[in-house]
Amino acid sequence: MSTEITRAGRFGPFGGQYVPETLMPAITELAAAHIEALADPAFAAELDALLADFAGRPTPLYRARRLESVLPGEAQVWLKREDLVHTGAHKLNNCLGQVLLARRMGKRRIIAETGAGQHGVATAAVCAHFGLECTVYMGETDMQRQRPNVQRMRLFGAEVRPALTGSRTLKDATSEAIRDWVASVATTHYIIGSVVGPHPYPSLVADFQAVIGREAREQIFAAAGRLPSHALACIGGGSNAMGLFRGFLDDGDVRLVGVEAGGGPEGHAATLGKGDPGVLHGTLSLLLQDQDGQVAPVHSISAGLDYPGVGPQLAHLKDSGRLAVASATDAEALDALRSLCRLEGILPALETAHALAHLQTLAADPDADLIVVNLSGRGDKDLDHLPPEVSA
Ligand SMILES: *Cc1c(COP(=O)(O)O)cnc(C)c1O
Repeated sequence: MSTEITRAGRFGPFGGQYVPETLMPAITELAAAHIEALADPAFAAELDALLADFAGRPTPLYRARRLESVLPGEAQVWLKREDLVHTGAHKLNNCLGQVLLARRMGKRRIIAETGAGQHGVATAAVCAHFGLECTVYMGETDMQRQRPNVQRMRLFGAEVRPALTGSRTLKDATSEAIRDWVASVATTHYIIGSVVGPHPYPSLVADFQAVIGREAREQIFAAAGRLPSHALACIGGGSNAMGLFRGFLDDGDVRLVGVEAGGGPEGHAATLGKGDPGVLHGTLSLLLQDQDGQVAPVHSISAGLDYPGVGPQLAHLKDSGRLAVASATDAEALDALRSLCRLEGILPALETAHALAHLQTLAADPDADLIVVNLSGRGDKDLDHLPPEVSA
């Protein structure tokens, strides 16, 4: 468990449980199941076996030498290959953990929300594996921009329900999933896909993603004989970032860097950089909002970063100075995506490409000599949305 937790579910001032009274029993039960599971060797053994045989862990840590050669400075760049996890992103690590908790609690129906579709696909895959009923909420706009993932969820037997309110993206899908849960909580577990939502979700999702950082820490030690100077990840809700950072939180010399969606003329989703404290989806964190406290419209070329909130622990890490926050624009992410394809033969997700884009700045820092980047997912899902000049 993270040493950052001072009282249950709080990270400094952030976190908490801002939920309707009807959901309190369910999140209390979930928090208890999580603590019990952490102490149960049989739970860890079952999860480890699934991570190995179903998810394909451990993922490699790969040195991107040709990418290094076009960056300023002398930094080594190592990619933690979460794109090689089954279903194509880090999301599956968390879904496997949560579905095991759902089974412990005797819940046979699973609901989830999804933005890019990656969390929905991972949820649908674990539900197929365990024979559980699965409903995934997805904004109608995201359903259009992530067609192949909608098809994959349906192939795995999930029902995909469009969210037709608001901007019809991740925020709206999350609101629909919460509405469903209020009505179905006795039989249903809600698998939240990132380190957001009411306690215990931010802690338990980080626990299930911490495998990324545990592996990366061992692997960089084995490969380079020391800890990295920097750990770098993109931040939507913050789960791939927290997963990597958990390997290095207590190593004060390892600089943690998160990259948000700087967007373009249509707007941005730079929550840590530009948000103010506010409550969304059950947690107090930084939030993009207008003067009246209404959630602001956000924009990113990548559906997975297109969210106005962020995990409360990341808000606290930023406030306390432990986490450096940067942003990359849509255009910079597209350039970085193309570079990684051409130089390394790896097609990253558009979300991931934001972290890669920041290497241009970070590698120029003389202190940045050994950088571990979380390559959070693969980009096949984004092919329909790359502008023609990128794939030409
Ligand atoms: C969902 C997703 C993200 C953003 O979510 P986090 O919780 O911030 O990790 C980033 N990269 C990929 C590949 C994703 O699928």
